[in-house]
Amino acid sequence: MRFSALSVFLEGLRGNRGWKPAWRNPDPKPHYDVIIVGGGGHGLATAYYLAKEFGITNVAVLEKSYLGSGNIGRNTTIIRSNYMLPGNEPFYELSMKLWEGLEQDFNYNAMVSQRGVINLYHTDGQRDAYARRGNAMMMEGVDAEMLSREQLMKMAPYLNFNHARFPIQGGLIQRRGGTARHDAVAWGYGRGADMRGVDIIQNCEVTGILKKDGVVTGVETTRGTIGCNRLALATAGHSTVTADMAGLRLPIESHVLQAFVSEGLKPVVDQVITFGMGHFYISQSDKGGLVFGGDIDGYNSYARRGGLAMVEHVFEQGISMVPGLSRSKVLRTWGGVMDMSMDGSPIIDKTPISNLYLNTGWCYGGFKATPASGFCFAHLIAKNESHPVARELRLDRFERGYAVDEGGKGPQPNLH
Ligand SMILES: Cc1cc2nc3c(=O)[nH]c(=O)nc-3n(C[C@H](O)[C@H](O)[C@H](O)COP(=O)(O)OP(=O)(O)OC[C@H]3O[C@@H](n4cnc5c(N)ncnc54)[C@H](O)[C@@H]3O)c2cc1C
Repeated sequence: MRFSALSVFLEGLRGNRGWKPAWRNPDPKPHYDVIIVGGGGHGLATAYYLAKEFGITNVAVLEKSYLGSGNIGRNTTIIRSNYMLPGNEPFYELSMKLWEGLEQDFNYNAMVSQRGVINLYHTDGQRDAYARRGNAMMMEGVDAEMLSREQLMKMAPYLNFNHARFPIQGGLIQRRGGTARHDAVAWGYGRGADMRGVDIIQNCEVTGILKKDGVVTGVETTRGTIGCNRLALATAGHSTVTADMAGLRLPIESHVLQAFVSEGLKPVVDQVITFGMGHFYISQSDKGGLVFGGDIDGYNSYARRGGLAMVEHVFEQGISMVPGLSRSKVLRTWGGVMDMSMDGSPIIDKTPISNLYLNTGWCYGGFKATPASGFCFAHLIAKNESHPVARELRLDRFERGYAVDEGGKGPQPNLH
């Protein structure tokens, strides 16, 4: 069923009795060409592009919980392509271009809103670093613009421009950046994949990976054994757990990242804004809630809730940047498990084990990458070679010494 203004109108006349479930709820078949483990954004996008772009439809997505229960439904919804390094920028720009046509492509309203992403700077050194990043973006054909303090005062008058320690000097804006409704992205990709024949199997946890003569042949699950020709892992914060089942040790650590939403307010924050003197980012949802977050909690964990120390830290930074935040009530906080890589960049690659493919290492930034990640992972699985924009995101880069260290922080996953 295609969604359109006309179908909404006609269904309204029929008392909305004609809508069908957005995807089926099939039982697993004994064998698939491709099994994708993980029904998050990346697993579902991979299934969608495998079917749509590469004609591979005998595919199952196995999700241990319900569709979109992981980080895809827990993030702060920021999308952008303001990266500096050649290993990252073309990849994230492909993602941005896919975001720009996504809703028409998968016929679902994902509320993509290109409201602009602004990084504030507070010192001369930071201004130079952002100018360098903006220039690197423009050399890749991506939009970037430096904003003066006066321009910012007009755009975001609620910011603390005269903070005693961190006065705001200006900012770098990517106007095409913004937000998208995270769970609708999962639903849109899931529905699009299902319509093309992909089986989305929820409540189906993979508990073991089967190998014969060193070659992956299938998986053991809570719903029985399922065979496959190719197995693709897209389990984000649980990547090390699933890779372990095949005897593969990954350069990944799992950490919890929290997010926060305030009570609904009248429109005040028109863009996405990040603080330059700490790690704090804020936007406002269409319902009016201020959506914000900061650093990971800093210890390894598979728990989806964080500690109060980080809550206090995030609020301190937020109030330094937006003093008025102290007057709003926070309604909800939650956590997600992040797959932190050693250089802060993702991994999309084949593994040394035959028929086993890997998608992980998304750190804080995997939501914005969802379309390109799905597209490039599908390309890899279908053609057995990396997509040109993902060539530097290979697993063996750590062995070869070609880290893609956007933050320049070294092999310290909790700092990326
Ligand atoms: C609080 C927070 C804020 C964030 N903010 C942003 C942001 O603003 N912008 C941005 O770009 N990124 C952000 N991120 C990061 C982004 O959400 C993640 O990098 C991205 O969603 C990870 O990919 P995914 O969607 O596939 O992960 P997930 O949705 O976590 O999908 C992985 C799935 O694998 C399933 N799974 C795990 N093990 C098994 C198993 N054994 N068998 C079957 N299924 C299994 C899980 O249940 C899960 O559904 C944020 C993350 C969090 C937690």
